[in-house]
Amino acid sequence: DDRISRITSAIRVIPDFPKPGILFQDITTLLLDPVAFKDTIDLFVERYKDKDISVVAGVEARGFIFGPPIALAIGAKFVPMRKPNKLPGPVISEEYSLEYGTDKIEMHVGAVQTGDRALVIDDLIATGGTLCAAINLLERVGAQVVECACVIELPELKGRDRLGDKPLFVLVS
Ligand code: 5GP
Repeated sequence: DDRISRITSAIRVIPDFPKPGILFQDITTLLLDPVAFKDTIDLFVERYKDKDISVVAGVEARGFIFGPPIALAIGAKFVPMRKPNKLPGPVISEEYSLEYGTDKIEMHVGAVQTGDRALVIDDLIATGGTLCAAINLLERVGAQVVECACVIELPELKGRDRLGDKPLFVLVS
């Protein structure tokens, strides 16, 4: 698929960011290429348009870039899952473990309801901790997580295994 090769070429890899030894996958260069960016959104929309998705949940920060155009195109609501203490209303939160310490994501109470069919979107899956926390939050409020989707997967970190039986769709591995 030449759309996948265009997307792959538009992602920039930056060594030693944010710390030595890490090869950072930079999607901001993908956003500079309107054709590759549109290809990215189109591929997700083609996959999800007839799946009866009622909510696209985007993980801060880069899930906020890819989530909204997909939500608009498939006629679903968009719900931001944010870092702690950013959302102004009552929240439900979920803690997850990092290499060192823990982190948390939060979602507004009432944004997602029992019976909602959710797609979780982020730019990249590494260990899978972030997506796992997002799935837990959505399931705690009674939503069904239909699938998780990322632009990029780092398969050597085996994040996919951490998602258990939850399907994961990625464009670039
Ligand atoms: P995980 O929880 O799967 O270990 O890490 C995934 C989260 O970290 C995602 O929210 C993702 O945006 C961020 N992340 C980790 N490594 C990278 C990277 O190399 N590039 C980008 N763009 N995001 C990363």
